[in-house]
Amino acid sequence: MDIACTLAKMATLPTRPVGYLLLADDNFVKINPFVGKEIGIRFLQEKYCASCGNQFKDLYRMGFCKNCFFTKPEAGESIIRPELSRAHEGIEDRDLVFEKGYQLQPHVVYLANSGGVKVGVTRAKQKLHRWMDQGASSAIVLAETTNRFEAGQIEVALKAHLSDKTVWQRMLKNEEEPVDLVSEKKRVSALLEGELKEFVSPRDEVFTFEYPIAHFPTKVKSVNLDKTEQLSAVLQGVRGQYLIFEGGAVINLRAHTGYRVAFSL
Ligand SMILES: [Zn+2]
Repeated sequence: MDIACTLAKMATLPTRPVGYLLLADDNFVKINPFVGKEIGIRFLQEKYCASCGNQFKDLYRMGFCKNCFFTKPEAGESIIRPELSRAHEGIEDRDLVFEKGYQLQPHVVYLANSGGVKVGVTRAKQKLHRWMDQGASSAIVLAETTNRFEAGQIEVALKAHLSDKTVWQRMLKNEEEPVDLVSEKKRVSALLEGELKEFVSPRDEVFTFEYPIAHFPTKVKSVNLDKTEQLSAVLQGVRGQYLIFEGGAVINLRAHTGYRVAFSL
């Protein structure tokens, strides 16, 4: 079957292995049953902004057109840099109502192993999806806060000691070292000073994830649809927001948010 869709990140289901859904125009397709089968993706040379929905020759960043990237609250400063959150002080960046709704809710600072241990911030209710989106094999809540600003402060304090990036090549090749996240949490928590210490979570539950992967690639080559319009190969697996193909071609669907494509499944 052929399915046209405007790419966005795949929806994730916290099953074992993780379930992936491709969101098509007015439908969704489960991706897991296609592992081991040949699938095709063809870029239809149209791109649509994830915010205003208008068509552009090129999108600017994060699936937004340039205007939306610089004006919409969904692309505001605190989205990428939680420590810049100001809604708790009643200070507006772009839209205070949106920012209060987004920032003034429980957040977590977490450690996740996705090709190496990294620190990150996410809304508490989103945490499982965030970890699956990153392709984490395991994760632990390090701190629980009442808003995004507090979580951002902790993340900044820890960035000096830990990476905040996913090493996607290692993650996709499954080359990460196993890490005892409980001891790593203990080590890292001890580095926090003053009132930041009070947010450390007493819960040490380690969440683990498995991904639908038949074979891990030994080499990976990231496909960019602007340069490679069409791709057709056996799907070897899915991890994070990447489709992994036989031969080592991988495509990050989230990085192609707004691209109009046709899937042959
Ligand atoms: Zn736009």
